[in-house]
Amino acid sequence: MGEVTANIHQLNDSVFAVIGIDGATNFGIIKGSDDSAVLIDADIRRMDEIDDALARTGCKKIRYLVNTHENFDHSSANDYFEKNGTIVVGTNGCYQALEEDGDEKFAEMAGRSPELWTRFPGLKMANLQITFPQEMTLRLPGVAVRLLFAAHNGKSHSRGDAIAILDRDKILFAGDLLYTDFHPVTVYGNIPNWIQSINQLLGHDFVSVVPGHGPVSSGGNDVYKSAFRKFRSYLEDFDGRLKEMKAGRKSPGEVESYMKSGAYTAMGKTWMVKRNIEYSLREAN
Ligand SMILES: [Zn+2]
Repeated sequence: MGEVTANIHQLNDSVFAVIGIDGATNFGIIKGSDDSAVLIDADIRRMDEIDDALARTGCKKIRYLVNTHENFDHSSANDYFEKNGTIVVGTNGCYQALEEDGDEKFAEMAGRSPELWTRFPGLKMANLQITFPQEMTLRLPGVAVRLLFAAHNGKSHSRGDAIAILDRDKILFAGDLLYTDFHPVTVYGNIPNWIQSINQLLGHDFVSVVPGHGPVSSGGNDVYKSAFRKFRSYLEDFDGRLKEMKAGRKSPGEVESYMKSGAYTAMGKTWMVKRNIEYSLREAN
């Protein structure tokens, strides 16, 4: 594999986000004063980018890896990091989800990139080592990362949704509870619950929010709130159209073209819309 330069968004002296190209997953790096780090999410297919980001931010040891939820693009490097002495942390809900169908999903996703096994012999799905029901705090010298379970009624974007908060810096890592500029994956979640999770997050006060996919919203309370409100109205609108479709008042094609037009014209990953609609139809039957 060749040289890869990570797209690093620096939030302050010790907090960074690695922004995925074209809406690929964002990762978080929180650095302690001893150059140890908490890594938030990691995708084994993007290890070159992650290694580059860790080197350029001066991180010497990854003490904890947080999975904001169970999806492959957030949890597939658990095995790699565990083997290198990192402790992998997430919610009980994420653990349960990986326990139930993590192996199957891992095989399906990794099967599309068979070169992974050449580079990482014996690579497999690895579950969390430390789990929490509602809240826990990870501490490095000079910095505390507060993790909260955020899946309303056990399922919002997914079953394991966690957010990470740096109270001192008023920074939020929202995982896939927030997408900015890209169509979301809704197939693993429950949209009404997801909206409830967003409502709860709107009660906070943050300077910056790092979404699971898409650019960071920085610049203060109004900016972070408007990012969530914009995404919430997307979810409300989409949910309403899905209900009309299920009631026979709209065709899947009409819903799809609506979600790709008007206020949503500029959003990336347009192919996701059809997939989300098709899944919702299957679920209804
Ligand atoms: Zn994701």
